[in-house]
Amino acid sequence: MSTDELLVCDVAVIGAGISGMIAALRSAQGGRRVLVFEKTPDQRYICNSRLTAGIWHCCLTDILDDPAVLASRIMDVTGGNARPDLAKAVATDGIRVVRWMQSVGIRFIKGPNHYQSFMLSPPTITPQGRQWEGRGGDVMLRTFEDELNKLGGKILRGHRALELVKSEGKVTSFAGQKADGVGFRVQAKAVVIADGGFQANPELTRGPVSRDPSRLLQRNAATGMGDGLKMAQAAGAGVSDLRGFYGHVQSRDALRTDKLWPYAWLDYLLGAGMIVGPDGKRFTDEGLGGTVVANEMAQLPDPLDTTVIADERIWAERGTFNMVPPNPWLERGGGTIHRASTLEELASKAGIDPAGLVAQVKAYNDAVRTQELQRLVPPRSTHKLDAYPIEKAPFYAFPAVAGITYTMGGISIDANGRVLTPDGDPIAGLYAAGCATGGLEGGEKKGYVGGLVKSSVTGLRAAEAILAEA
Ligand SMILES: Cc1cc2nc3c(=O)[nH]c(=O)nc-3n(C[C@H](O)[C@H](O)[C@H](O)COP(=O)(O)OP(=O)(O)OC[C@H]3O[C@@H](n4cnc5c(N)ncnc54)[C@H](O)[C@@H]3O)c2cc1C
Repeated sequence: MSTDELLVCDVAVIGAGISGMIAALRSAQGGRRVLVFEKTPDQRYICNSRLTAGIWHCCLTDILDDPAVLASRIMDVTGGNARPDLAKAVATDGIRVVRWMQSVGIRFIKGPNHYQSFMLSPPTITPQGRQWEGRGGDVMLRTFEDELNKLGGKILRGHRALELVKSEGKVTSFAGQKADGVGFRVQAKAVVIADGGFQANPELTRGPVSRDPSRLLQRNAATGMGDGLKMAQAAGAGVSDLRGFYGHVQSRDALRTDKLWPYAWLDYLLGAGMIVGPDGKRFTDEGLGGTVVANEMAQLPDPLDTTVIADERIWAERGTFNMVPPNPWLERGGGTIHRASTLEELASKAGIDPAGLVAQVKAYNDAVRTQELQRLVPPRSTHKLDAYPIEKAPFYAFPAVAGITYTMGGISIDANGRVLTPDGDPIAGLYAAGCATGGLEGGEKKGYVGGLVKSSVTGLRAAEAILAEA
């Protein structure tokens, strides 16, 4: 690689999503010379932060709740997998970072659900397609950039970081390539990796995330290739448990039409009914919610061989729940919906074994009636989502796909965003933030904490640690 351009700054940030921009702006507020390196050349470079629905929550709990309660929720949903220091930081600082964002001009409104006290304005959740221009995430990133420019910092677009350089144990610089193929080098007192995760790189997701990543829906900006993870590992960083992703179960037709991307989810339909394989049998606990089910689907030999089953009551009640619900948006977006007056006919239409489906629904309905859902194989929990009987015609079948939004595992950090070696020692000069990092979410239970609360808090804390060190 040629290295004909040398750039020098105090703080170099890799990736211009929310985590990188918060780290950059907060560092610039502290008087540091800041450069942000963003690989995509476009003025409105696409990233998960531009597409986001913009809802701040902590494990689907309001960030205004007692931090001690939020921290224990994080430990609970992750089955104790989260680092306690990170859990505490995110639980405590979720509201602090929102107040700081408001102070630099980011606007929020209240969302429609009880835990949504803060949602980016204007709202981004819209039916049918990638309509992000002029909405929450887009406005937020442009506001951050304007503020950064006022303080003398800037985003260098079309600059992809590829390799960290260490000197005497400290990260002092990195090398990369510009969109025109020319190399560049950056010298900085602190480097922050904020490249958004590895969800779009099948070489990295095959195994920990899915048996066959090509059979998943990329429910993301497709920019997270795990460059940061690879660079950090090569520089001696540890990585957290890489299993698990945040995502949703969607209509398989979202693979062919943007009208069904990234909504509507099938989560609440299957959470009241069931999801089966081609043999008509259930393969997971639907009561654990869409993210857990999507993770289970991803680990099937063929993640695409799955169908959500419901009846008229579920379609009418749970199908209309939440923002952009499948009833009516799935039909309006041209998604496949099989309807039939009997389960046998439904199975034939959906390409499922009829005898298998009839037997499975009977066993399930019996268990709903006798409240013995825990005895089903696999067991069906109801502490999060009620199980409805599947008995009222017409019956419904929806071909499904697991949508991956971002990977939960990543670079090991402490609560100050300092990158850690596998032994837990900080690597001098190196920080990471956002969905590039691990240690908060995921684990055996695929616990989802919240992409925005994690990204914003880790970005802010990395900057504050950099300022404190200097
Ligand atoms: C449709 C959708 C809806 C969502 N809704 C919510 C929600 O309501 N609530 C919530 O909590 N979370 C939500 N999320 C998740 C949340 O938006 C993300 O977790 C968050 O935006 C991630 O921020 P980030 O800074 O880590 O990564 P990103 O925003 O992805 O930014 C990373 C940036 O790094 C750049 N980059 C990558 N590699 C390199 C490299 N080598 N060199 C230089 N630059 C590089 C990328 O191009 C990108 O611009 C949603 C996500 C999506 C896709």
